[in-house]
Amino acid sequence: MKKNTKQQKFSNEWLTLFEKSNQQKSPSYQETISYFKKFEDKTPYARMFTIGVSPQGREIKCLVVARNGEFTPNEAKKSGKAIVLIQNGIHAGEIEGKDACMLLLRDILITKEKFNLLKNVVLLIIPVFNVDGHERLSPFNRPNQNGPLLMGWRTTAHNLNLNRDYMKADSPEMKAWLKLFSDWLPDFAIDNHTTNGADYQYHVTYGLERQANISEYLSGWIKGKYLPHIIKKVEKDGFLTTRYIEFKSEKLTDGLIDYPMLPRFSTGYCAVQNRICLLVETHSLKPFNNRVFSTLSIMNHTLEFINQNSKELISLNKKADNHTVNYHYNKGKVLPVDFEDTGGFENFAFKGFESYEEESAITGNKVVRYSDKPIVFDVPLYNKTRIKFAVNVPKTYLIPKEFSQLVDIMSLHGIKHGVLESSKHLLVEKYQFTNDQFMPRPYEGRQQALFNLIPFYEKVKVDKGTFIIPTNQRTLRVIVNLLEPMAPDSFARWGFFNSFFERKEYAEAYVMEPIAKQMLKDNSKLREEFNTKLDSGENFRNDPLERLDFFYRNSPYFDKTEKVYPIMRVNEKVLP
Ligand SMILES: [Zn+2]
Repeated sequence: MKKNTKQQKFSNEWLTLFEKSNQQKSPSYQETISYFKKFEDKTPYARMFTIGVSPQGREIKCLVVARNGEFTPNEAKKSGKAIVLIQNGIHAGEIEGKDACMLLLRDILITKEKFNLLKNVVLLIIPVFNVDGHERLSPFNRPNQNGPLLMGWRTTAHNLNLNRDYMKADSPEMKAWLKLFSDWLPDFAIDNHTTNGADYQYHVTYGLERQANISEYLSGWIKGKYLPHIIKKVEKDGFLTTRYIEFKSEKLTDGLIDYPMLPRFSTGYCAVQNRICLLVETHSLKPFNNRVFSTLSIMNHTLEFINQNSKELISLNKKADNHTVNYHYNKGKVLPVDFEDTGGFENFAFKGFESYEEESAITGNKVVRYSDKPIVFDVPLYNKTRIKFAVNVPKTYLIPKEFSQLVDIMSLHGIKHGVLESSKHLLVEKYQFTNDQFMPRPYEGRQQALFNLIPFYEKVKVDKGTFIIPTNQRTLRVIVNLLEPMAPDSFARWGFFNSFFERKEYAEAYVMEPIAKQMLKDNSKLREEFNTKLDSGENFRNDPLERLDFFYRNSPYFDKTEKVYPIMRVNEKVLP
């Protein structure tokens, strides 16, 4: 006899709004937290805690789920189980991960159909990360998205995109997240999203770092073991899946790109922490319920796989940590921090829909229309990159005490530091900024700086109270990516040192001119240099201010800190 519907194995109080609304709605933040809190109240396997408070005063919650009450970072680590962090709604309009987590937790803790997912795993779930954005509800927040009826907003109440904030940590939300991450140090992270863009057949795509920006131990595991398993399982559940789709241009036939993600993003950030982050991107044109269930599928199979391979994953993470220090600190090998496309590609069989172009009276140009006819076409996938910039890692960075706010951010990243107890004379390496330019528009509320560097050595007296950052730490990649100005997400690139590009003291021309005359008379080397500049450069010759500035720069009045990066590199261990 054919079985009709699946028997409900839980009481109605565990029905989610998603289910009660015919799979059309997602609950408010308050309702969401009430639902998650019930797992703490009604089972012995969950504890809820607050990781931080948003700018609008909402508490960001996290639920820790563990079979034997491993509710603290210490207990979780001691248990030998893999710690898995799942976060939802970093872009709060992209919310199906939250609804999927409610179903997942019910399967684990209430019906216990999936209780075995806690065998070798301690789960951390952030129901909603961007809590203020989640409550900025409207049916009109995401024009490309097919449900839920009301959805939240992409950015925070400060209009910051959290998925650009991992390194600079401007937002209180990200500061809270970093503290959670470094306290628990998850073995694997899942970041749930919904993607926009062209229409295609895939229901759910995955983003995983597999290039030279992540430890080979981890990329090897992803490519060789995790991915083949997960693709098979998710497709068996009826969801077409592939790598995260990013197009090279507006034209699909120009192909796809797959470059290392910068550490400002979740996946790139975990990579510099020697951990794997799975980016889940359902497709926004698929109905909400399909997106909830495809997210549930990829989470389920990922957790199953981690349960089966928890020991191996933990040991690979440890190896990646040790290798980072051994290779870049002990052996002194360079650390790549920036990458570029080689132009190389492989063919990719893209499962799209047939599209055509139509004249538009609105745009006065052609617009793309998609049919629902599936089609597979070969496109180039540009996934070959080479190292653009690599850093010789110093044994120590020294940060003057006036930059304690940077050290505070670094502490949230899990970076340890010491403080110099008495002043010391040291040979340090410094950087002089040259060719400095600034982005014309603000980005994430900051004016990003572009520059080149001229390194130089100097014997300096390092003051008492200077912060010492030894690089023989498991966070070595994070340290270097924050402190090396050429790294794309360094403090310097994000504009934290923009005031150092400004000249703050001047000499009046009538004061400088007689000094210059005297300098010319007294210093034959300078005279020679000045004359060469006059002979070789028309611009210089015709610019009275530049000519005078030449002398100012060479005089003792010139500010020696102008355009000098104040953080120092030392090629030896520095003790407090
Ligand atoms: Zn997103």
